[in-house]
Amino acid sequence: MTSVTISKGRPPDCKIVVLGNSGVGKSALIVRFLTNRFIWEYDPTLERTYKHQVQLDEEPILMEILDTAGQEETIQQEGNIRWADGFVLVYAINDRQSFEAAGTLKQHLDQVKKTNVQCMLVGNKVDLLHERRVTTNEGEALALELSCGFFETSASDGGEEISEVFHELLRDIKRRKSVETK
Ligand code: GDP
Ligand code: MG
Repeated sequence: MTSVTISKGRPPDCKIVVLGNSGVGKSALIVRFLTNRFIWEYDPTLERTYKHQVQLDEEPILMEILDTAGQEETIQQEGNIRWADGFVLVYAINDRQSFEAAGTLKQHLDQVKKTNVQCMLVGNKVDLLHERRVTTNEGEALALELSCGFFETSASDGGEEISEVFHELLRDIKRRKSVETK
């Protein structure tokens, strides 16, 4: 396999914003995706971007990921929403409120972007099965209603799903961009 190196100084091909209630595991998921490590405590007020290159379907893609902190503030930060090509909406399967918030958030994103935005709905913390408050079926049903992809993940246990979330979103964004430029 050949690997192509591209400069991380150039503008990203895909810009992704990760949103969801505080404490659902946004930072943990991103760090797991980028480093394959789990960090138990992560500064909950930290908002930062990461640049990361992936080899997707034999094409190098430079992505920029914005890890947000504080959903209410982010709603006001409409600039972030306009900046993004796609979104990862995270809730925790043991937190019903975070699930309901994810649905509301998607509607807000669509309004701001004036389109049906590309997004993945993610039910995180599936390792906490005994605390589950949102069923897989409910997650799937909401994703269908919101026209999102759907995954359940565990940032603490890891697994393929976490990479799949980002890779599938990148594929959706690429597809949308190629349709739009035609
Ligand atoms: P954020 O506020 O959405 O960025 O959430 P964090 O990534 O800071 O995670 C909040 C808390 O949930 C931390 O104590 C994490 O260790 C924990 N956490 C995150 N993901 C998981 C997971 O998949 N399983 C479990 N058991 N805990 C998690
Ligand atoms: Mg965080």
